[in-house]
Amino acid sequence: MAWDFETDPEYQKLLDWADEFVRDKVEPLDLVWPHQQFTPLAGGRRDAVDPLKAEVRRQGLWATHLGPELGGQGYGQLKLALLNEILGRSQWAPIVFGCQAPDTGNAEIIAHYGTDAQKERYLRPLLEGELFSCYSMTEPHAGADPTLFTTRAVRDGDDWIINGWKFFSSNAATASFLIVMVVTDPDVSAYQGMSMFLVPTDTPGVKIVRNVGLYGERDNEGSHALIHYDNVRVPGDALLGGEGKAFVIAQTRLGGGRIHHAMRTIGLARKALDMMCERALSRQTQGSRLSDKQFVQGYIADSYAQLLQFRLMVLYTAWEIDKYNDYKKVRKDIAAVKVVMPTVLHDIAWRAMQIHGALGVTNEMPFLGMVTGAAVMGLADGPTEVHKTTVARQVLRDYQPTEGTWPTEWIPGKREAARAKFAEYLDAEVGNL
Ligand SMILES: Cc1cc2nc3c(=O)[nH]c(=O)nc-3n(C[C@H](O)[C@H](O)[C@H](O)COP(=O)(O)OP(=O)(O)OC[C@H]3O[C@@H](n4cnc5c(N)ncnc54)[C@H](O)[C@@H]3O)c2cc1C
Repeated sequence: MAWDFETDPEYQKLLDWADEFVRDKVEPLDLVWPHQQFTPLAGGRRDAVDPLKAEVRRQGLWATHLGPELGGQGYGQLKLALLNEILGRSQWAPIVFGCQAPDTGNAEIIAHYGTDAQKERYLRPLLEGELFSCYSMTEPHAGADPTLFTTRAVRDGDDWIINGWKFFSSNAATASFLIVMVVTDPDVSAYQGMSMFLVPTDTPGVKIVRNVGLYGERDNEGSHALIHYDNVRVPGDALLGGEGKAFVIAQTRLGGGRIHHAMRTIGLARKALDMMCERALSRQTQGSRLSDKQFVQGYIADSYAQLLQFRLMVLYTAWEIDKYNDYKKVRKDIAAVKVVMPTVLHDIAWRAMQIHGALGVTNEMPFLGMVTGAAVMGLADGPTEVHKTTVARQVLRDYQPTEGTWPTEWIPGKREAARAKFAEYLDAEVGNL
């Protein structure tokens, strides 16, 4: 019987250290260098951040998303979840702890599918935190349905030539290399005819046309690139995991990426709940504190319950990943977590914003950023609707249609069967009357 909701004391000590460290030393980076966490370190930023990374390394908490067998020092997904929910409070924290998306997912697929040479060239510096990477899959005309992708790689001697367009390739502007999903064989199904390539960003023909920003970011702050791959020549050994393996690789990458986002979202939603509670206790109106108003108590209770449900769901799914060590077996629950995540963050951030009054909607408080973040979570790594479809399909696998007209739980039919089962006793009852 191992349903245990306690963290072992040794690891709890590390988590306590991480919690204090993030609040005290890392969150200030968000204010001094906002949105710059994916810009390679230099000057004052390097001087400030490198010692923090060194402290994390000394605690043994650096890059814990990969297990030792994949070149990391991970403790598994459950422990990562407990750490990530602390890191989720801060934009910079994942960088300081060496476990930021999208690099975690990219590292994971190179670890799984890369050759020794690819690991040496890309994975080692990625795990060292010395470079950034980009996952370039979505196209301007198609995102949720990868079978519609048209970016093409064609063999030319030992090389491949890539042509096409990709959209929303996050961090391409600062990444050292791109993982590009392309069609290599248009004559078979997309599931067999697409492949992944590792492409250094400075390869001739990789043209970043513009860096699209999210709402609220300034024009020059966007980090989601529209890329034209214009006759990009790469050698045969740029192929990752073999020809036709793109879908298998994508599933490995996206499963991990989705659950890691969810872990960090717990931290962000908890931050919103913390702010909600502090405000409720601090603000007076119409003769009492906000915390004494039933509406506000309702906001707090709903938020607490939503966060607790979500957290348990994420921790359980992380535990399942550790148990099965196979994302495919946990697909249903990862998709369910992905479906719930935007609503949880949206609802809690929205209520917290509401009880802060006018101040809540200003750029002096973080709530609108959280609400936009929730909207983003309903799209990045696939739209909510698609994940709901996955959940439903997986759930339905465990059910069969009824053979007759009436449902299995149709009460008259069940009653008749029950009466037949206990007929002799029912007869006796009648006889005693
Ligand atoms: C912040 C952010 C970062 C991102 N980073 C990356 C990245 O690094 N690399 C990358 O390759 N991509 C990235 N993306 C792109 C993301 O993966 C796509 O936006 C997503 O897959 C949806 O594709 P789309 O935008 O083309 O929407 P579409 O595929 O056009 O879908 C539009 C809408 O149609 C509806 N819809 C779609 N399919 C279905 C369906 N089957 N059933 C019902 N309704 C449906 C949904 O409402 C959906 O939102 C990022 C996106 C965001 C917002």
